[in-house]
Amino acid sequence: MNSSRSNFYVSPGNYLGLLGGGQLGRMFCHSAQSLGYKVVVLDPDPDCPSGMVADYHIAASYNDVNALEKLSKLCRSVTIEFENIPCNSLEILSKDCIVTPSAHAVSVAQNRIKEKEFIQSQGVEVAPYKSIYNEKDITENMEYLLPGIIKVSKMGYDGKGQAIVSSLDEAREIYYKFGEVPCILEKNLSINYEASVVLARDFSGNSVFFPISINIHNKGILSSSFVRKDIDSSIYSHEKERMIRKAKKIADSLNYHGVLCVEFFVLNNNTIIVNEIAPRPHNSGHYTIDACFESQFDQQVRVMTGLPLGSTELLTSALMLNILGDSWFDTDSGVLREPNWHDILSLSGVKLHLYGKKEARPLRKMGHLTVLGDNINLLEDKARIVATKLDLSFW
Ligand code: ADP
Ligand code: MG
Repeated sequence: MNSSRSNFYVSPGNYLGLLGGGQLGRMFCHSAQSLGYKVVVLDPDPDCPSGMVADYHIAASYNDVNALEKLSKLCRSVTIEFENIPCNSLEILSKDCIVTPSAHAVSVAQNRIKEKEFIQSQGVEVAPYKSIYNEKDITENMEYLLPGIIKVSKMGYDGKGQAIVSSLDEAREIYYKFGEVPCILEKNLSINYEASVVLARDFSGNSVFFPISINIHNKGILSSSFVRKDIDSSIYSHEKERMIRKAKKIADSLNYHGVLCVEFFVLNNNTIIVNEIAPRPHNSGHYTIDACFESQFDQQVRVMTGLPLGSTELLTSALMLNILGDSWFDTDSGVLREPNWHDILSLSGVKLHLYGKKEARPLRKMGHLTVLGDNINLLEDKARIVATKLDLSFW
């Protein structure tokens, strides 16, 4: 049911299907429900963040044929919030449902080797890399990639399944440590800044692009995203159009349907390369909930229901700060305690989003904050206050 469906429409009141139960799914539920849709989530974890807010939660594995059948009976349109959903399940669902994005697009995004090959095949530059399928692939002809980063080809996220190596011996060691699964060795680049394009593409091939955010990472995890309304373009005017062109090329050539994030590295010599793509809304697009006419999750609902794409216009400058489980531990004593939300929420223009996760663990994404306002100095001051209160020491 997936391809060439440019004129379907699923009206509010109906169920929408969601594979994956994380925070992205929880925010998808909020958008879908506010338009009057019901959401059925498939995720094995009975306590997952989207299961708590969905209208119906099927707590079963993504491969469970009965669960997939139940899902396809309940809804005409299904999407994902997690790229490691088995593509076979998406294929099965696509017999009876509209599936966005397609199994093919997801299969490219969930495998770093396939992803890089695909991006390069579109004439878009990626970081220098070589694939490792077995230890014999780790040879002197990889030395030019050192110091480099070994990344597992599948299932890595938030810097997990990655390690910096400075010699081939170290590369071998890490390859064994990662369980001898397919990996890439990628050159560790000196990056001027990181940015991302979040776009939505519909079944007629129309795309809309959110304002590009500048992203700061710490330990491989996104820590903040900044989008400025005032002099937005002065930061990267000449790079902006190039990034959008590359993102569009990737989305068009995948015949992509849904929300896609393209992560970029801008190097010191202004070379723009694509780091990776995410076939779903993205952490760097969370600011769109509070700062844009329609959020990235609203757009996800629109594509999968056949509604027209919404406006991506930015209403105000925004700085998004991720809140990790570390903020639950007192810096001096290490004792677990709830952060002081009262003080944070006393600041105007600061929007808190918590994901309802039961257990705070270091480096676990627990929520995010968006600091809004057109006075950049004030906005940055507020962000600094919030960061201090949450012990976000890297801010
Ligand atoms: P993940 O799937 O965990 O997001 P990424 O490949 O996006 O993995 O890496 C996470 C972060 O690590 C990037 O956003 C960037 O900050 C840093 N990083 C990744 N690859 C490189 C590289 N080749 N050179 C320098 N920094 C990198
Ligand atoms: Mg990434």
